[in-house]
Amino acid sequence: MIFKSVASLLLLSGSVCFAQSFAGSESAAGPSSEPKRPISFDLSAIDKTADPCTDFYTYACGNWKKNNPIPGDQTRWGRFNELAERNNYLVYQELKAAADAPKTPLQKKYGAYFAACMNIDLADKLGTKPIEPALKTIADWNDKKTLATLLGEMESRYATGYFFNFGSEQDQKDSTQQIGEVDQAGLGLPDRDYYLNDDERSKTLRDQYVEHVTKMFVLLGDTPEAAAAEAKSVMAVETALAQGSMSRVDRRSPANVYHITTIAELQTMTPGFDWKVYLGAKKEGELKTVNVTAPNFFKAMDEQIGSADINALKSYLRWQTAHRFANNLSEPFVQENFRFYSQTLAGQKELAPRWKRCTMATDRALGEAVGQDWVAKNFPPAAKDNMEKLVHALETALDQDIKQLDWMSDATKVEAKKKLDAFRDKVGYPEKWRDYSSVVVKPDDPVGNAQRVAAFNDHRDLAKIGKPVDEKEWGMTPPTVNAYYNPAQNDINFPAGILQPPFYDFKIDPAVNFGGIGVVIGHEMTHGFDDQGSRYDPQGNVRSWWTAEDRKKFEERTDCEVKEYGGFEVASGQTHEEALTLGENTADNGGLHIAYAALMQTLAQESSTAEGKIDGYTPAQRFFIGFGQVWCENQTEQSARLRAKTDPHSSGQWRTNGSVQNFDEFGKAFGCKVDQPMMPANACRVW
Ligand SMILES: [Zn+2]
Repeated sequence: MIFKSVASLLLLSGSVCFAQSFAGSESAAGPSSEPKRPISFDLSAIDKTADPCTDFYTYACGNWKKNNPIPGDQTRWGRFNELAERNNYLVYQELKAAADAPKTPLQKKYGAYFAACMNIDLADKLGTKPIEPALKTIADWNDKKTLATLLGEMESRYATGYFFNFGSEQDQKDSTQQIGEVDQAGLGLPDRDYYLNDDERSKTLRDQYVEHVTKMFVLLGDTPEAAAAEAKSVMAVETALAQGSMSRVDRRSPANVYHITTIAELQTMTPGFDWKVYLGAKKEGELKTVNVTAPNFFKAMDEQIGSADINALKSYLRWQTAHRFANNLSEPFVQENFRFYSQTLAGQKELAPRWKRCTMATDRALGEAVGQDWVAKNFPPAAKDNMEKLVHALETALDQDIKQLDWMSDATKVEAKKKLDAFRDKVGYPEKWRDYSSVVVKPDDPVGNAQRVAAFNDHRDLAKIGKPVDEKEWGMTPPTVNAYYNPAQNDINFPAGILQPPFYDFKIDPAVNFGGIGVVIGHEMTHGFDDQGSRYDPQGNVRSWWTAEDRKKFEERTDCEVKEYGGFEVASGQTHEEALTLGENTADNGGLHIAYAALMQTLAQESSTAEGKIDGYTPAQRFFIGFGQVWCENQTEQSARLRAKTDPHSSGQWRTNGSVQNFDEFGKAFGCKVDQPMMPANACRVW
């Protein structure tokens, strides 16, 4: 699945790959100690010298920020990361046990994957050998007209994503069906803007990128002179692809990425690439139509294939192959990849220990295998039951919120209610686990393992084309600390990994849990009604269910947020890209309102003890502090700049302050006066 329209709580899964903490000096040692369990509502995090009405984020998180510097192997360090580190450690325990003494066939498989990844001596001994078959295939290619044959073969055996992605996707107009889709891809830098922007910082990063690509070619055995020339060619090819690429903001509108095209039309559009041959190699030769997300990209790709020297295209393919598997290769590749992608681009000081990287890699590769055993130990059935109750409480609150909206007509409210009633709630883990029985894992072949998993996922994804949609499938693994809404399925998804402190604590007062996981639930539900989700109907089809006048009023409200968040700075001279973050900002604001309403209903139903102060704070104050403390974080300047370009989420500071300053109940809870920074007279409100 090309997960382009899924709105997640923390970070889009597709963006994660650039900031991975892959690369210090290599050691196969395990963790030195167990990461501490995060706590909900941390009194020691609060900075009482700060005025909550002036800067609530500093009040809720000031001492946490002072006492929690960014660890050397991270680019951002927040409460999410604390929990993710702990989950990762617990997954590591499963992997280590399975590698040492597997008890089941599944444990044998994921244990072997992990053990192969951990084997530094093997990786160093193998050097570039594991990717030599792929490099030879590229070296032997000598006719541009057969690029389609080459890509079909390379993708089936090694990996996808050269130039473009081909996969399955739910049809926007008939969400019960899976269709084929070709989408822009193929860049080595995190976004097209890195190739196109003219400022000094972008130019310097481009020079550093070319230097990195050069070093990778030298590691492949090329002379420095040849490597420099090849890197220049790579830059030219990728710049041409970037010029044709659609921006992240434009991709938010479903209509912009929906162009059902016959294969014959696609062939006319891109005469230099033989689609029949390519699709045949992918065993999709019968396909009559595909969705071409970004036609201009494919035209640019075709022009580039036509005009570039074949040696330039070969350099591009070689680079992308080495890049894709750099972290599975010997130490010099791992270090060089770390130096550019983690250090230069994201400000990470040191390579994460190998056990962490291999744990994350195994979770990505075989997440529903190790996830089964992780869930059995770490996710009690009571947690699932409680979570389902919370989700229902939030759905009731959103229902009432919609009924009370003064700007929406009754006609649109009826439709909104239908959409809310059609939400599918998915909590914890899949009902049916993915079947990995066909994936061959060998203890002495780490790169081959990664390639076979990539091929398995590719085949699995393509096999969906023309078949009904599997609504029970998950897009995140169980230990993941995140959540998402998928507009085409109209479902909200909460992996087991996030259903723990600081988000949810079985033993704490409801105010804190509603401020934590309650807001997370409200956030995902609101995605169904943000700038993107609101264009989908209850069945997940793109269809306008709004009256024209209501849509106009909705957009006036979202425009207020666009202007507001566009003024929030994340690094010197770097603000949020307001149209990119609009959906997440709307979800943060809506989530906070809905969770607060759900808390107040819950407190009204419970005994009066729930209304008293705890630790000197009222339930409303505890709700807001619980919310703010989920977002305590420190991040490197480089990471802040990288995320501003690629991440649709605002930074923790603005996720907190932006949301509370738009909610008058916050000002009331802390006794703020109108026109103080956290209680502006002209607050924005959508949901
Ligand atoms: Zn989100």
